[in-house]
Amino acid sequence: MDLGIRGRRALVCAGSKGLGRGCAEALAAAGVDLVLNARGATALAETAAAIRSAHGVKVTEAAADITTEAGRAAVLELAGGVDILVTNAGGPPPGLWRDWARDDFIRALDANMLTPIALMTALLPGMADRGWGRVVNITSQSVKAPIAELGLSNAARSGLTGYVAGTARQVAPFGVTINNLLPGIHATDRADALDQGAARAQGISLEAVRAARAATIPARRYGTAAEFGAMCAFLSSVHAGFIVGQNILLDGGATNATF
Ligand code: NAP
Repeated sequence: MDLGIRGRRALVCAGSKGLGRGCAEALAAAGVDLVLNARGATALAETAAAIRSAHGVKVTEAAADITTEAGRAAVLELAGGVDILVTNAGGPPPGLWRDWARDDFIRALDANMLTPIALMTALLPGMADRGWGRVVNITSQSVKAPIAELGLSNAARSGLTGYVAGTARQVAPFGVTINNLLPGIHATDRADALDQGAARAQGISLEAVRAARAATIPARRYGTAAEFGAMCAFLSSVHAGFIVGQNILLDGGATNATF
């Protein structure tokens, strides 16, 4: 399927690895030029080079911490007026409700709620003026089905989801869509880190943790960054202009709900 976005420009945040990279690869495969962000310049340069050589698109490297004001300013300067925005950042650490202090919540809110909101605030006006735009926010399955030990994530991402629900309806008249992608378990470094923590806590092997988690997913496996990226590219495409303010689960059926 031709996604109809060849020659468009996208800012993909937190995109040198994992789900963000999956989105960057799929957009590049559709002919989209990228401004690609991550903190670590080395992995970012490697990913950018791989994408340029695989897809022949322009990739501008924007090495910065997207969750800081200075980092965002630097990235936005390089991005200029992009047509597509994919927001993403590392997730908050797991823990227990009684150990979380105000500062922990502020950090999580900054990274996973206020950062995507700041990026949208900066980029939506240009998209609306030009009459076309796409925003895809990477959130989490935990928005629909809480993961108890990820309470900081549950809280921050639910806040973003509420913001998107209203704002998506305000920008839709201008040809701009905002939607959220909700990953369940995907095989990335983040999933590896969580699995390693669980293996240590339970005193079992990493393989045993992975097998037990995969068994809880009806698809009986972890998702891949490529599958995730394909959905991101579709939501960014000309075909998705009537999909507004949705929360789309990619979880292999793990969230056991009818609606
Ligand atoms: P990942 O494999 O660890 O990759 C994270 C990417 O984000 C890397 O490129 C990393 O590069 C970059 N990054 C992290 N913090 C950043 C920051 N502050 N500024 C700029 N770039 C940053 O993670 P992932 O699994 O793709 O997860 C992406 C998001 O989806 C996370 O918020 C995670 O909580 C959420 N999620 C993941 C899963 C899953 O199963 N994988 C499930 C639900 C939700 P640098 O470290 O070099 O900056």
